[in-house]
Amino acid sequence: MLVLDGKEVSGKVRASLVPRIEAFKARNERPPHLTVVIVGDDKASHVYVRNKKIACEKVGMTSTIHSLPADITQNELNELLETLNQDDAVDGILVQFPLPAHLSSHEVLKTVSPEKDADGLTYTSLGYFFAGQPTVRPCTPEGVMTILKHFNINVEGMRAVVVGRSNIVGKPMAHMLTEANATVTLCHSKTKNLSEYTKQADLVVVAAGKARLLGKDDFKKDAVVIDVGMHGTGNNGKLCGDVRFEELQGWAKAATPVPGGVGPMTITTLLQNTCLLAEKRALR
Ligand code: NAD
Repeated sequence: MLVLDGKEVSGKVRASLVPRIEAFKARNERPPHLTVVIVGDDKASHVYVRNKKIACEKVGMTSTIHSLPADITQNELNELLETLNQDDAVDGILVQFPLPAHLSSHEVLKTVSPEKDADGLTYTSLGYFFAGQPTVRPCTPEGVMTILKHFNINVEGMRAVVVGRSNIVGKPMAHMLTEANATVTLCHSKTKNLSEYTKQADLVVVAAGKARLLGKDDFKKDAVVIDVGMHGTGNNGKLCGDVRFEELQGWAKAATPVPGGVGPMTITTLLQNTCLLAEKRALR
C-alpha cells in the first residue's frame, strides 16, 4: 500500500511558496500577511492557531493573531472584521471555528471580505467556487486534491464516494472531484448502509468526524482511501482519523495516515491561498 504522506507533499508546496513570497516582498516592501481571529480559550483551537502562525513564519509570511475574550459581542467581532477588511496591510483573514454559542459563524462568513478570505469559505467565495469560477478554494479539500495530484492519482473516470456533507469539507470535496471528472456519490449521517456505497468506490474520502468509523471491510480491494478525520482521543488517547488505517495494509492501493496525511496540507493550502490573495490585491 502506498502511504500518501501529506508532510512530504506539504514540504514541497511550502518550498515552492518561498520564492513567490520573496518576489512579493521585493515588490511590496512587506511579506503577505495573514490575520487569524480566535474567540475564547478552547485549547485545541489555540494550538491550531499557533500552528498556523508558525507555518506562516517558516515560509516568510507575517501572521497576526487577534485573541478575543469569549464574551465579546457579535457587533464587536464584526467591527474588528470590518477594520481588517479595510486594512491595506492585511491580505488574509481567517476566523477560527467553532465560535462560542452566542456568536454566529453565518455573520462572520458574510462579513469577511471575499478578497481576503484565506479559508475560501465566505458565501461569496463558495458561490464563485461552486459556479466554477473560484478565487481561492476551501483549504482541506484543495489539500486532498494536491495530495492526489502529487502521487499521480488521476481520478478521472473513478467511482468516488465522499462521506460527510459539511460546507468546509464534504460538499466542496464532492464538487472538486466532480470537476476532476470522477463520478461522485455524497454520503452522510442519514445514508442507509454506508458500506454498500464505500465498497463500490475506487476512491473514498472520509470526513464524517467519527473516530475509526471505517476499516478494511468497508473498502474494495485496491481502493484509494483519504482520511480527513482528526480526533485527539479516539485510539487510546492517540491522534486518529475516521479510518482504521492499520487494517488497510495489503488491501488498499493507497491511503493517507492520521497524523501526517490531510492535516498538514490544510495549513499548507491556507498559506497558498494567502499568498494568492496578496498577489491579486497587489495587482489592482
Ligand atoms: P461536520 O461535523 O461538520 O460534518 C460531518 C459530516 O459527516 C456530516 O455531514 C454528517 O452528515 C456526516 N456523518 C456523521 N456521521 C456519519 C456516519 N456515521 N456516516 C456517514 N456520515 C456521517 O465535520 P467537518 O467539519 O466536515 O469535519 C469532518 C472531520 O474532518 C472531523 O473529524 C474534523 O475534525 C476533520 N477535519 C480535519 C481537517 C484537517 O485538516 N485534517 C480539516 C477540517 C476537518
